[in-house]
Amino acid sequence: MKKWRCIVCGYVYDPRVGDPEAGIAPVRDFKKLPDSWGCPECGAAPDMFEPIEHPYQEG
Ligand SMILES: [Zn+2]
Repeated sequence: MKKWRCIVCGYVYDPRVGDPEAGIAPVRDFKKLPDSWGCPECGAAPDMFEPIEHPYQEG
């Protein structure tokens, strides 16, 4: 599973962590998040995120 970055604020969604505060369990693929989910930092919709192809090379 890839990490996804919010192109608005830079928040990174890590599927190994999920988003506990929004009730998103760990190991939940980004594409399976509910449509109602938004960036925890800025509220951007999921389509404002881009996949991080090589997370370990981008810090
Ligand atoms: Zn954001």
